[in-house]
Amino acid sequence: MAKPQVLQVGPYPEWDQAPLDAAYTIHRWWEAADKDAFLAEVGPNIRAIATRGDLGASEAMIAACPNLEMIAVFGVGYDAVHLASCRARGIKVSNTPDVLTEDVADIALAMLLALVRRTGQAEEWVRSGDWAAKGMFPLTRKVSGTRAGILGLGRIGAAIARRCEGFGMQIAYSARSPKPGAEHWTYIPDAVELARNCDHLFVALAATPETRHIVNAKVLQALGPDGTVINISRAANVDESALLDALEQGEIAGAALDVFEGEPNLNPRFLSAPNVLLQPHHGSGTVDTRKAMGKLMRDNLTAHFAGQPLVTPVAL
Ligand code: NAP
Repeated sequence: MAKPQVLQVGPYPEWDQAPLDAAYTIHRWWEAADKDAFLAEVGPNIRAIATRGDLGASEAMIAACPNLEMIAVFGVGYDAVHLASCRARGIKVSNTPDVLTEDVADIALAMLLALVRRTGQAEEWVRSGDWAAKGMFPLTRKVSGTRAGILGLGRIGAAIARRCEGFGMQIAYSARSPKPGAEHWTYIPDAVELARNCDHLFVALAATPETRHIVNAKVLQALGPDGTVINISRAANVDESALLDALEQGEIAGAALDVFEGEPNLNPRFLSAPNVLLQPHHGSGTVDTRKAMGKLMRDNLTAHFAGQPLVTPVAL
């Protein structure tokens, strides 16, 4: 029997590529010089799209595949997939939740500690000879015992909260409704109120039209000059201009960011903004987790072509 034809939107690690090539006829969209011509040629044969959270699947791409049955996302965020097209045509979507939760929460805490304790600058102090020449590194601020605000207590938000408890931090969170099992944390649904009641605001929301720019000038003002923002979710959840203004004017103490509008080409103001810690969207970037994500994405494709329910379907 002929192998199902799959449109692959971007590269995967080699340990995923070999099994994909073995199971499917893979069409490499990202390698095509003329992408429109490529889609016009292969689109009608495509039964599944294999993509990544950052690449998604555009309306035009989905439209070019009239026989498309499913889209398998490598990543938990599916905001870059044109969901309206999927809903309209009954196209299934899978993602890779849970397997990356702990790594993303780890990096969120690493970012908080590095930002507030200035570990990067402190290392530079040693390497540059400033320690010997100028003496002690300037004092920083304490993290343990401060107040964490978790904007979006989903899988990753809850994992961040658990880690913050280990640092003796008080936890407040927002979500659309109070979460069962989170009774020992304070539920503050409004983002401005949450910011007013925390020192470190972790942004762990899904990115939807409703959450776009939820961290705006008012939220930053409420956070105040000693507050920090740590965003490991999606850039769209933060109004970057308002954030840059707040950083440049000292309205907040700092920001640690793993995600940016237009990444990997970020607004150059970030490169000169004071007290920012910049990361290359690598929250899930460990070998262990990327292997688990690849396996889960492939398991979803396998289930679909075996006529089974998806392992981790997205509710559309
Ligand atoms: P999740 O379990 O679906 O949690 C998402 C949270 O967002 C939930 O608490 C949800 O609240 C909340 N939310 C959604 N819409 C909302 C709205 N309109 N108002 C208020 N809250 C809303 O997702 P996750 O697996 O934890 O992932 C969280 C984020 O991390 C996503 O944006 C994902 O793309 C991102 N991510 C980043 C990386 C990285 O490398 N940096 C890696 C993986 C994931 P309810 O529970 O009330 O619905």
